[in-house]
Amino acid sequence: MGFEKFGVVSFTAQTRASDFIDYLEKGEIRGTKCNLCGRVFFPPRADCSWCMSKDVEWIEIKGQGTLISFTKVNYAPTGFEGDVPYILALVDFDGIKVFGRLSKDLPEDSVKVGMALKVTPLALPEDKLTYEFLPA
Ligand SMILES: [Zn+2]
Repeated sequence: MGFEKFGVVSFTAQTRASDFIDYLEKGEIRGTKCNLCGRVFFPPRADCSWCMSKDVEWIEIKGQGTLISFTKVNYAPTGFEGDVPYILALVDFDGIKVFGRLSKDLPEDSVKVGMALKVTPLALPEDKLTYEFLPA
């Protein structure tokens, strides 16, 4: 799953970071869709890792998703030590699987697989942007 590698730094290293951040600033969470084989990628990719096509487009991930699984993180990667503990979640949006953090406003004992969540941009210190899941 790669949960332990999640973070703004490692996340953006493998993607077209500036475009993704531009969309975040507009309040949109986007992945990419391959126009050749139709597969959807999140995090977004510059080309399709399935069929190698470079014909990809940005698609917005919105609406209501379903929590598939989650894990509590007690030990954070370098740069995120101050954030623990937090909950990382995998959420399905119409077949697009998005991983990220649950909002800290969500009590841990209320988190249940199958619950409805939405994804929304979140501003971090030092002008960084990320996103988090909130109850839908
Ligand atoms: Zn493809």
